[in-house]
Amino acid sequence: MNRVLINKQLVVASHNDGKIIEISDLLSPYGIKIFSSAGLKLREPEEDGDTFIENSEIKSKSASIESGLVALADDSGLVVPSLGGIPGIHSARYAYNPWSEERDFKYAMDKLNIEIGNKDRSAYFVCALSLAWPDGHIETFEGEVHGKLTWPIRGNNGFGYDPMFIANGFDQTFGEMDPVSKHSISHRAKAFEKLIDACFKPQ
Ligand code: IMP
Repeated sequence: MNRVLINKQLVVASHNDGKIIEISDLLSPYGIKIFSSAGLKLREPEEDGDTFIENSEIKSKSASIESGLVALADDSGLVVPSLGGIPGIHSARYAYNPWSEERDFKYAMDKLNIEIGNKDRSAYFVCALSLAWPDGHIETFEGEVHGKLTWPIRGNNGFGYDPMFIANGFDQTFGEMDPVSKHSISHRAKAFEKLIDACFKPQ
């Protein structure tokens, strides 16, 4: 039996403003007051799990224990099975460019394209979302969107690896799709659907 959020407030365990805005938008029909972990000055725990689920749970548990509130965290990334699953849980770190010393997704996509060469170009995005209560209860959900990696990259919408990824059944990359269309099929949307179904009831 899933646990439903009863008192209408939670902390989003992220220091990324973009993520907090996206999550606030998705939860707006549920009348929930949202705090951010940066706003509450919560520490950022080390994400040393081996899976997306473990990392999202590390973040949500830590924020919940520190704040005494229910905490929501996500962890996401791109998986390329023909390359043994990279960049996977290291998707953000994989984009670190040692020359500019910055995160650089053009550099990351170029590197990925070279590593793939003639190997199978199937890939998928994963999003794990977890909701942790201060008493230790936790609810976690995962969403995936499958497709393939194309080259050259196309489109300026979205972020990260979007210009290289084409979802199955589509011709445009996520970087070319309009955001509403991407958000209707994305890994994050699928994980959210499961979470909302299980833990949130409309006002
Ligand atoms: P996180 O913030 O630690 O979960 O890192 C997720 C990383 O995975 C991002 O920095 C992106 O590189 C990649 N990623 C996750 N979701 C998407 C997406 O929807 N499009 C493109 N890249 C994504």
